Amino acid sequence: MAQPSVAIIGSGQAGLQVAVSLRELHYEGRVVLIGDEPHLPYSRPPLSKAYLLGETADLALRPQGYFAQHHIELIAGKRAVAIDRTRRMVGLEDESVIEYDHLVLATGARNRPLPIPGAELGNVFLLRTLDEANVLREQMVTARNIVVIGAGFIGLEFAATATKFDAIVTVLDVADRPMARALSKTMSAVFTREHEKSGVRLMFNSQVMRLLGERHVTAVETVDGQVLPADLVLVGIGVIPNVELAATCNLTVENGIVVDEFLQTNDPHISAIGDVAAYPNRYSNGARVRLESVQNASDQARCVASRIMGQPAAYEAVPWFWSTQGNLKLQMAGLPSGGCEEVVRGDLNSSKCSVFLFRDGKLACVETLNKPADHMLARRLLAERAALTPGQAADPTFDLKALLQSPAGRVAAA
Ligand SMILES: Cc1cc2nc3c(=O)[nH]c(=O)nc-3n(C[C@H](O)[C@H](O)[C@H](O)COP(=O)(O)OP(=O)(O)OC[C@H]3O[C@@H](n4cnc5c(N)ncnc54)[C@H](O)[C@@H]3O)c2cc1C
Repeated sequence: MAQPSVAIIGSGQAGLQVAVSLRELHYEGRVVLIGDEPHLPYSRPPLSKAYLLGETADLALRPQGYFAQHHIELIAGKRAVAIDRTRRMVGLEDESVIEYDHLVLATGARNRPLPIPGAELGNVFLLRTLDEANVLREQMVTARNIVVIGAGFIGLEFAATATKFDAIVTVLDVADRPMARALSKTMSAVFTREHEKSGVRLMFNSQVMRLLGERHVTAVETVDGQVLPADLVLVGIGVIPNVELAATCNLTVENGIVVDEFLQTNDPHISAIGDVAAYPNRYSNGARVRLESVQNASDQARCVASRIMGQPAAYEAVPWFWSTQGNLKLQMAGLPSGGCEEVVRGDLNSSKCSVFLFRDGKLACVETLNKPADHMLARRLLAERAALTPGQAADPTFDLKALLQSPAGRVAAA
C-alpha cells in the first residue's frame, strides 16, 4: 500500500504547526509543507515591533535542520495553484504535483489594499510579510513624517514602534476610537490616552481621500481637506482571507473557508485552519467567526493533527490574543462584541487595568492592560464558565482564583 500523506498549503504559523504536531503525535506518513514565501516558516508578530527596531533578527519558527530531521518536506517559494479533489492532488506553479490523503489549507490572509489615488506611490507600505518589513525597516530610519492609516492592532503597534525613531507619527482612522471593532470603549479610551502620552497624534472620524506625491508619497489628504506631510505611510486597514484556491475547487467559502466544529471543510479530506478558516465558535454562541491570532492558528493546527491521527475533537479553545504597543501590553481572552456591559477592575488612570465584558450577565471577554495574571485567570474563568458576576469582577478584593477553585463558582457545561 502506498505511504499515507498529508499536504499542507501555507507554511505560516498554522501550517507549520500541523506538520510539527503530526510528527509529535508519531504520524508515520509523508508530510509536505508548501509555502509561497521564500523563507523558513517565521513568526509574524515581531514584524511590527521588535524586528523593526532591530531588537530581534531571527524570526524562524524552526531552524533549517529541523525539517530534514523530522522528515517534513518543506517546499518554500512555490505557490499551490490548483487542487484536484477527485484525484486528491495539489498542483504547484512549476507544474509539479503533490498527492495527499488529507489536505490542510492554511493559506492565511493578505492585507487589504487602500482603494484611493496615490496608494501605489513609493514609501506607501503594507505590513504582512518579512520581505515587506525589511524594506519598511530601511525606510523608517530616515522618515520624518510618518502617517499610519488605520488605528487597528497593526497600525497602532507600528505607530508605537515608529515613535522610537526621529519622526512625527500620526494615526488616522474613520472610526471614532482606536481598535473600535475589537475593543471596549473603556479600553479604547485608555489606549488613546496612553498613545497620546507617548507622542502619537491620533485623528479619528478622519477619512483619507488621496495620497499626494510624484514618485514617492509627500502628503496625505483627508476628505475634509486637511493635508498632512508624509514621507512614509503605513496602511493597516484589515485583511482579506486567501480563499481563492479553495473557491476554485468548490469548497464552501464565505468570509473565509467554511469549516465545521472539527475544522473540516465540505470535503472530508480537506481541513482549513488559522486566519483563513471560518468556524463555528462556542464563545459566539456557535456563530461562525474567523480569528486572526497566533493562538487560533496554533491550537487549530493541533486540533486537526489529532483528528488526522484518529482522535477527533471539536475545536473549543478559548480565543486569546495579545498586542504589544510600545510599553502597552494588551491581552484579550474571549470574544469581543458590541452591547456588552463593561466592568472595570483596577485603576483606569494607571497603565495597569482590566475590563471585564458581560453579555446577558455572563462573562464574555476580558481585556487586560499590563496585567498578565488577570489575563491568565480570565482564560480559565472563560474555559470553565465560572459564575462570575459583574459586581465581583468590579471588586478588586474579590479573589478570582478562589472562585475557580470553588465548585459553586462553576457553571455546568451546557
Ligand atoms: C505585523 C503583524 C503582527 C501581528 N501581531 C500579532 C500579535 O501580536 N499577536 C497575535 O496573536 N497575532 C498577531 N498577528 C497575527 C498572526 O501573525 C496571524 O494570526 C498568524 O500568522 C496566522 O497564521 P496563518 O498560518 O493562518 O497565516 P499566515 O501566517 O498568513 O500564513 C499563511 C501562509 O500561506 C501562504 N500562502 C497563501 N496562499 C498560498 C498558496 N496558494 N500556495 C502556497 N502558499 C500560500 C502565505 O504566503 C503565508 O506565508 C500579527 C500579524 C502581523 C502581520
